[in-house]
Amino acid sequence: MAKILIVGGSLGGLFAANILLRAGHDVTLLEKAAGSLDGRGAGIVTHNALADALREAGISIDKSLGIAVNKRVTLGADGNSLGEIHLPQIVTSWSRLYHLLRENFPSERYLQGKNVTFISQNQHQVEVKCADGSRYEAELLIASDGIRSATRTFMAPSIQPKYAGYIAWRGVCDESHLSNYTLETLFNYFGFCLPDGEQMLGYPVAGQGNDTRPGKRRYNFVWYRPAGENKELVDLLTDADGKYFPTGIPPLKVSWRHIAAMREQARNLLAPQYVEIIEKTASPFLQPIYDVRSEQIVFGRIALMGDAAFIARPHVGMGVTKAGDEAMSIANHIAALGATPAALDAYSNERLSMGQQVVARAQYLGRYMQAQSSKLMSDDGGLKRNASTVMAETAIDISALLAAGNAVPEPRH
Ligand SMILES: Cc1cc2nc3c(=O)[nH]c(=O)nc-3n(C[C@H](O)[C@H](O)[C@H](O)COP(=O)(O)OP(=O)(O)OC[C@H]3O[C@@H](n4cnc5c(N)ncnc54)[C@H](O)[C@@H]3O)c2cc1C
Repeated sequence: MAKILIVGGSLGGLFAANILLRAGHDVTLLEKAAGSLDGRGAGIVTHNALADALREAGISIDKSLGIAVNKRVTLGADGNSLGEIHLPQIVTSWSRLYHLLRENFPSERYLQGKNVTFISQNQHQVEVKCADGSRYEAELLIASDGIRSATRTFMAPSIQPKYAGYIAWRGVCDESHLSNYTLETLFNYFGFCLPDGEQMLGYPVAGQGNDTRPGKRRYNFVWYRPAGENKELVDLLTDADGKYFPTGIPPLKVSWRHIAAMREQARNLLAPQYVEIIEKTASPFLQPIYDVRSEQIVFGRIALMGDAAFIARPHVGMGVTKAGDEAMSIANHIAALGATPAALDAYSNERLSMGQQVVARAQYLGRYMQAQSSKLMSDDGGLKRNASTVMAETAIDISALLAAGNAVPEPRH
């Protein structure tokens, strides 16, 4: 049994913490936030590997994991279908996964209000210091502390998030508020709408209290829109009182002016079903889209995982599945090689290029929107995409492509 510290108590950290605890280790998790993390996320597309990671974490999977969608549909601006494909998938929510993982992990090991501010290591152990003056020691430290990872900043300060040039408006709308037209033509599907240079997508998720009964569910949407890094993005990340949030605006701080403008633009650009969903979503929020591509994820007795290691744009729908995969990989190598730097090196050998491939695939999926918005679309081989290709490529299971090292198709000429 080894002493292992996990930094970050969101989905990635909880996967690692649960899996390593079940493997018999003495695990302590340090989470910066003092209050509840609930309500942070919206919808999450799942893949088979996510179910594997939940099982390894000791969580039994049943129908209540999420909602089964069987079909994808792309709607034109007039609301009519431009195309459909059959693609069964389970979609769930951040909150559902958080509760499953959090309730499975002992509270006395999940320490909140622990902002890790200093990390050091020697041949035998790692030590961390938190802003409240507390210190912790362990044989290994697994950091799943997100996009602005303090651990990554310590170990590899040159690896920084890079803004992708667009943002995502997100939100969830109660099923019971929607018209029959929207319920019949969109609600049960993984839906898309593709204005030039933009992309709207959505799918049903559980409602309050994880209720998946018809009438009680919600529709989760993500609307990708270009926003220039200087003026436009700064404006969007500034609240109605003029306060700027450079690292991300809290959902309830998004300015009502921006929400009103976004709703107005939706009326001009989107299918009426999506317009209705946006109109009836109480608190739409926005997130800038970033890439994080690490060149190194292991530093002696310290490993990065989850969004701290790689952020792939959400078009791949892989962030949580990737974190679950990485947690399983770390635990497998510790089981084989002990809580040693060699085990973490083996994790890096297995996962570094995988993470880089996922980032590259997500950039490839985002590129066509950017090409459209900069009028570069024309004959550029790999960028020509239509409703069918977008539906067939977005947020699908790419485990076989990754294993074959083929996550980004060769450009077509
Ligand atoms: C628009 C959008 C849509 C998405 N859709 C999907 C999807 O469909 N499917 C999917 O799988 N993924 C999706 N993702 C990605 C997914 O949300 C993340 O990849 C996933 O949640 C992994 O997060 P994480 O636990 O690594 O990091 P985070 O969730 O960012 O958690 C990091 C944690 O570390 C804590 N922390 C930070 N600094 C410190 C510190 N110094 N000390 C202690 N604790 C600290 C934070 O408080 C936080 O709790 C989407 C993301 C976006 C933006």
